[in-house]
Amino acid sequence: MFTDTHAHVFHPKIAAKALAQLTAHYGLKPRGTGLLDDLLARADCAGISRVVVHTAATDPTQVIPANNWAMELMRLSPRVTAFGTLHPDFAHPEKELDRLERAGITGLKFHADFQGFFLDDPKFFTLMEAVGSRFTLMFHVGDRLPPAQNPSCPIKLARLRRAFPGPVMIAAHLGGYLHWEYALEHLAGQDVYLDTSSSLRIIGDETLRGLIARHPAERLLFGSDYPLFDPADEIPLIESRLVPLGLRVEDVLSAGTRLFPARGAA
Ligand SMILES: [Zn+2]
Repeated sequence: MFTDTHAHVFHPKIAAKALAQLTAHYGLKPRGTGLLDDLLARADCAGISRVVVHTAATDPTQVIPANNWAMELMRLSPRVTAFGTLHPDFAHPEKELDRLERAGITGLKFHADFQGFFLDDPKFFTLMEAVGSRFTLMFHVGDRLPPAQNPSCPIKLARLRRAFPGPVMIAAHLGGYLHWEYALEHLAGQDVYLDTSSSLRIIGDETLRGLIARHPAERLLFGSDYPLFDPADEIPLIESRLVPLGLRVEDVLSAGTRLFPARGAA
């Protein structure tokens, strides 16, 4: 069974606006509509059974609506694992963490760049203490600014890993979008999962070879970053870029199924 571990699905009311924001930020036109039915149809075409979807609250007032949406997504399809979110400026996170846990949410997504904080901010460390080891944590990592100036980067994530050895951590975009040389130095071989989302088109050959050589295959997850990309279009990239490095397509596609077993099967 295959799993797409990194996708985004928007509430129909805000999908158009969210797609416009993605277009503006990444300078590319999203492939999908950002709606659940579209994602699941494309997953079917790609032979993917399960999807893990992520929402990050851009400010503290968005935490509860984003988490309500995650809970609704879990109800809409048994194929969906939805991550919740929090924000370092959200007051009394314990209550919200309990609410998520009661709803069966097992993961939290943090996108420091969009959420407006740095991964090494002491207030984020305080939030990490409240989170503990109860959730699997998905971090957006990297972007155009160099590590010191970028809110997220492989170096800050590696530091977070050392400070909080408990929870399962996933570093999106092969450890850091446009930060791959730092991901190779600071995250490869560490106790973090890396996902392939938005990376296999542009990462350089040598850096990719180094990452795959140093990082255990079972900690490499398939992610499409839908709606930016179509999961079916990402599979040929595994074939062209990862298979020559000794990985098997079916192993990359099924690694997420072990991490996120079907609900009720855990
Ligand atoms: Zn993403």
